[in-house]
Amino acid sequence: MKALVYNKKEINLCEKPFPTLIDESDAIIKVTLSSICTSDLHIIKGYVPQAKEGIILGHEFVGEVVSVGADVKKFKAGDRVCVNCETFCGECYFCKRGYINNCVKGGWELGCKIDGCQAEYVRVPFADNGLTKLPDKVSNENALFVGDILSSGYFGAEMCEIQKDDTIAVIGAGPVGLCAMMCAKYMRAGKIIAIDVDENRLNIAKNHGLADVILTPENCDITNVDGVIECAGTNESFQLAWKIARPNAIVGIVAMYEEPQSLPLPQMYGKNLTFKTGGVDAIHCEKLVNLISERKISTDFLITQTYHFEDIKEAYKFFEEKPEPCLKIAIKY
Ligand SMILES: [Zn+2]
Ligand SMILES: [Zn+2]
Repeated sequence: MKALVYNKKEINLCEKPFPTLIDESDAIIKVTLSSICTSDLHIIKGYVPQAKEGIILGHEFVGEVVSVGADVKKFKAGDRVCVNCETFCGECYFCKRGYINNCVKGGWELGCKIDGCQAEYVRVPFADNGLTKLPDKVSNENALFVGDILSSGYFGAEMCEIQKDDTIAVIGAGPVGLCAMMCAKYMRAGKIIAIDVDENRLNIAKNHGLADVILTPENCDITNVDGVIECAGTNESFQLAWKIARPNAIVGIVAMYEEPQSLPLPQMYGKNLTFKTGGVDAIHCEKLVNLISERKISTDFLITQTYHFEDIKEAYKFFEEKPEPCLKIAIKY
């Protein structure tokens, strides 16, 4: 089969053997739609030390179940599913508490430590935990982002422990930030402030009704936000995150940084902030599919370009350079 393989800071479309079941809890999925994530670019640039050379990239996708191991109870061949970007056993200390990102037998494995979805077929471990069935009225496009960026946005909003009518600031109006805004709105935030350096992205947030106020960092002289969701991942955005928070607010950090960050604790003293950080604990996929099915949230507008899998290297180039406005690219098979 064809697969996009990462090696020595390069990617290449190669011939690879079809994946087979290794454990009885595995499923083999025929990929029908996938996407490229900024984390894929992070791997290629060498910012993800745990990523293995020679791995097939990709962790955001929907597909059809082809075969399952004997221990898989909830799925059978032919089921249309979206797939969690995280692999988790469901039984360890962390899984039992919902902290699946730190599962002792999993975490972010697909397209990082084990072969991912930018291939015709992929093996998904712990299939009963990682797959979510798609109802007929949810299309592949509707569900493409459930297992990764929509879950990340939800995770960010959840970290802020939003109370009804809270003012929530989301730094970074890229795909994850936009998902965080729609989830914060769903959690009944009263006012959502989108902050980004890119006015095009801010306008998308405004035009889709996700943000009530849009600000660039230069004119961002607010200090009274109840919760901050930091999705931008720059040195400046990290500092902005604590500055705009009101005393006792929660700052939820979803972003992945390329450099270490430091907090000026003397200046922050007395503000009594709570910081939460994290790789997404993507435990709400079923709920998110239901919300999409009920048309309460929609991520359809995030797909700005579609490429065929044969042309995935061009898609990567476009996603990295963004010669035209681009939020997310869908890869068709
Ligand atoms: Zn991702
Ligand atoms: Zn576990």
